[in-house]
Amino acid sequence: MPVVLHASDPIDFDQPGKHHYQIAFHLDGSWGYSLVPLTVINGRRGRSSNGVICFGGTHGNEYEGQIAVRKLCVDLDPEAMLGRVILLPQLSESACAANSRVSPLDGVNMNRAFPGQARGSVSYRIAHFVKTRIFPLARIVLDLHSGGKEGAFPICTSFHPIPDRAQQAEIAQVAQLYDTPFVFIYASTMASGLLTDEAEGEGKVTLGGEFGGGETTSRWGVRHAYEGTLNVLRHYGLLEGEVLKVRPAGSPEPRLVKADQLHDYVPCPRDGVWEPRVDPGASVQQDEVIGCLHDFSEHGAEPLEIRARRNGYVAMMHLSARPLKGQTLYVIADAVDWRELTG
Ligand SMILES: [Zn+2]
Repeated sequence: MPVVLHASDPIDFDQPGKHHYQIAFHLDGSWGYSLVPLTVINGRRGRSSNGVICFGGTHGNEYEGQIAVRKLCVDLDPEAMLGRVILLPQLSESACAANSRVSPLDGVNMNRAFPGQARGSVSYRIAHFVKTRIFPLARIVLDLHSGGKEGAFPICTSFHPIPDRAQQAEIAQVAQLYDTPFVFIYASTMASGLLTDEAEGEGKVTLGGEFGGGETTSRWGVRHAYEGTLNVLRHYGLLEGEVLKVRPAGSPEPRLVKADQLHDYVPCPRDGVWEPRVDPGASVQQDEVIGCLHDFSEHGAEPLEIRARRNGYVAMMHLSARPLKGQTLYVIADAVDWRELTG
């Protein structure tokens, strides 16, 4: 069984080998704890300045990252590694247990809780622990998501536009190691308090990704999340061996797309029943019908057609059949040449 430590306890992050813990964060409403799983691996072949931290379960109802990071906890062999890898397969442990995007303990979305608060509710205290105790231990931060009930995405890795050219080029290089069909640059202004915001702000090589959705488990999503993270470890020399392709031989290079302006995140104009007409990841022309909103109170009338506001790729589409007014209905993104980032 993992060793239970309290969040205020000292942790020997330099201990050689592989060590499994549960970090106990006290509950706010009763006696007891949220026990957050944490694995620390220090390779026995030597040290590295390129430590890696990998998170799953930042949102509880997104499973590919949870499974991939848990498999890494089991499979990684410190005898064959150098450097340090820190794995947290269920960061918002209470949300994971509840199959929920947000924690049922405090109603907080872990991916809006950063940089956290030392005396806040449980999600803020976990974020504060990550910010103050985990982030200082590595320079590469990976946060593996899926669309949950929110969005349908093509399988992608993702990052924000980064003002520092060298940091952005290194992130773009790491993004390709997952060999996903798409790599998505998304707007920093669409939300605040993200885990990735915080890590980027510290200058770390920071990557997110959407590896499935709909509270299901995508077989390909798990594969990209797991094999891609192994590729990151190989790329930085923590594991021996060449970076491997994840998709079958002959698959095209990951397509880089960017939606860094908020007007490309189009809100649903009214409640309705959503009928998509294209798939996530589709290339569309301006005014092409992306989908229709049906109003069954006027079932003899034509549905409301939702047309692409411009040419581009559909980087995200509302997942459920029942979008509400104001929810993001689709995101349209431009193709970008890799050379613009990696030069
Ligand atoms: Zn998520």
